[in-house]
Amino acid sequence: MKRPPPPAGYEWTGHGMEIQLIDPVGCPAGHPIRWGQRGYAPCAQHHGHPTWTCRCGQVIYGLDGAFLAELPCRR
Ligand SMILES: [Zn+2]
Ligand SMILES: [Zn+2]
Repeated sequence: MKRPPPPAGYEWTGHGMEIQLIDPVGCPAGHPIRWGQRGYAPCAQHHGHPTWTCRCGQVIYGLDGAFLAELPCRR
């Protein structure tokens, strides 16, 4: 039986149906980062977004597998 594709922004861990969040590889400001700080941004439109905070203070938002410096749905 073939697995369905995981939800956008996630990948299979290889353990059953367990999925994990794919981390962004870089900060919009262009530096390599260690992603120690994950968060969550509530949003009624998309049922919330994962967030990452770079050491420079830049927040990156996850939206359907894309990494955005700002959310179009939060102003
Ligand atoms: Zn949203
Ligand atoms: Zn940064």
